[in-house]
Amino acid sequence: YIKIEGLYKSFKNKKEENQVLKGIDLDIEKGDIFGIVGFSGAGKSTLVRCINRLEEPDRGKIFIGDTEITALNKKQLTERRKKIGMIFQQFNLFDSMTVFKNIAYPLKLLGVPKKDIEIKVDKLLELVGLTDKKNAYPGSLSGGQKQRVGIARALANDPDVLLSDEATSALDPVSTLSILDLLEHINKELGVTIIMITHELEAAKRICNRVAVLENGVMTETGSTREIFLDPKSSTGKIFLEVYK
Ligand code: ATP
Ligand code: MG
Repeated sequence: YIKIEGLYKSFKNKKEENQVLKGIDLDIEKGDIFGIVGFSGAGKSTLVRCINRLEEPDRGKIFIGDTEITALNKKQLTERRKKIGMIFQQFNLFDSMTVFKNIAYPLKLLGVPKKDIEIKVDKLLELVGLTDKKNAYPGSLSGGQKQRVGIARALANDPDVLLSDEATSALDPVSTLSILDLLEHINKELGVTIIMITHELEAAKRICNRVAVLENGVMTETGSTREIFLDPKSSTGKIFLEVYK
């Protein structure tokens, strides 16, 4: 469903070029919870940001369904992005807005009528279990609750794809488990395909059905979660198993 072919991305400063993604190929099926694991600096965030073109790839193609993302013009891209949700390690909420307003934000941007926004946000609050926090401000919420708001906001436009960049890395183990269960629920019940970047082996093991290992801008192995963590072939895979056991 999400297909990446020969993806290259570098960052240039005056003197040198930092080649971050060096020819990534990836096939993600509809309905996957697809984990991308790798050490700090491997290029995980850059890769996931290329998928919705928050970073512009230098070379290569990205498809979601029948749409070639890399071929869209600005207007088409803006349109398609509405259906690609994204969540972050630091939640990226608007601290001066209530939970309700945070979640309503993407709908307001689209000019959805007030009544419909109200109905939709109430549904999302119920989905993420925060109905009683509707009028609270992010500052008064726990990390896990903040991430629930982030998830609700990311789902406001009924995306078919959810990009998750270390969404549980700032959370304690108990909140981590509840967020992982929520992501799994969203995947199963709403059919959202999820790409989950993480350096937490346990997180990937718990909900991903497939995993790819990114090492220095190269995918060194891809397979079922079982396969990869039972008998990793790549050096990163091996270290992961050793260190995070
Ligand atoms: P982490 O686990 O620490 O989040 P990561 O795997 O997500 O790491 P990236 O954030 O993709 O890694 O960074 C990979 C490389 O790309 C790093 O060397 C980083 O310095 C570089 N990089 C990322 N974004 C930019 C940018 N906007 N400008 C210049 N260099 C960048
Ligand atoms: Mg990152």
